[in-house]
Amino acid sequence: MRILVVEDEPTLQAQLAHAITQAGHTVETAADGETARYLGEVENFDAAVLDLGLPVVDGLSVLRHWRAQGRSMPVLILTARSAWHEKVTGMDAGADDYLAKPFHMEELLARLRALLRRLSSHSSAQWQCGSILLDTRQATVSVDGLPLTLTSHEFKILSLLMQKVGEVLSRTELSEHLYPQDSERDSNTIEVFVGRLRKKLPAGCIETVRGLGYRLAAPGGAAEEVQT
Ligand code: CA
Repeated sequence: MRILVVEDEPTLQAQLAHAITQAGHTVETAADGETARYLGEVENFDAAVLDLGLPVVDGLSVLRHWRAQGRSMPVLILTARSAWHEKVTGMDAGADDYLAKPFHMEELLARLRALLRRLSSHSSAQWQCGSILLDTRQATVSVDGLPLTLTSHEFKILSLLMQKVGEVLSRTELSEHLYPQDSERDSNTIEVFVGRLRKKLPAGCIETVRGLGYRLAAPGGAAEEVQT
C-alpha cells in the first residue's frame, strides 16, 4: 500500500516513514502543508498520516482541500495531546481516525492497519504480501519488483490466497473459484497449479495444511496485516 506521511518534525517523520515501510508499505513524505496538499491531490495514496500543526498550510486546511477535491483515502490525523477540539474539528473535516501525540508507534501501525482493512479488496488495485505485489486491475504479479509470469489459473489461485493471507483455503474452495461453471471439478488439478505457483514464488510462501488445504504465510507472522 502507498502511504503519505505528513509531518514537519524531522525525527518523527523519519520514525514514521521507517515504521510504516517496515510494515510493508511504500511511503511518501511531506514536511509542510502546501506540499502535502499537492501530493494528496495529484497522486494516489491508499492512506495518509497527517499532522495538524504544519508550516505554510495547516493540516486541517490540507484535509479539507483533499476532501473538497474528492480524495477519499483514509486519513489518520496526529493531534496535540491536550487539544481535544482538534480531534473534533479534524473528524468533522473528514479524518477517519486520530492519534494524540506523543503516541506509541505500535498503536499508530495498528490504527493504520484498521484503516486499510476498511478498504474493500475490490476498491484497492494492489495487494501486497511481503515481497509479493499483485495488481488486480492489470492482473500482474511481481516479487521484489520483478515481474512474474503466471498462467491465468495460477494468477487466480494466488489472488484468492492473497485475499485471505494466513487463512486456510481448501482444495474444494479453490477449485470452486477456478471452475465456477464446471460440475466436474477436480481438486487434484489444484495441487498441480499450486505446485507450479510455488516454484515461481519465494520459498515457503504457500504452506500446505495437511488435510485442510493451503495458506499464504503472512510475512513476519500474524503481526503483519495485509488488506483483505
Ligand atoms: Ca507539527
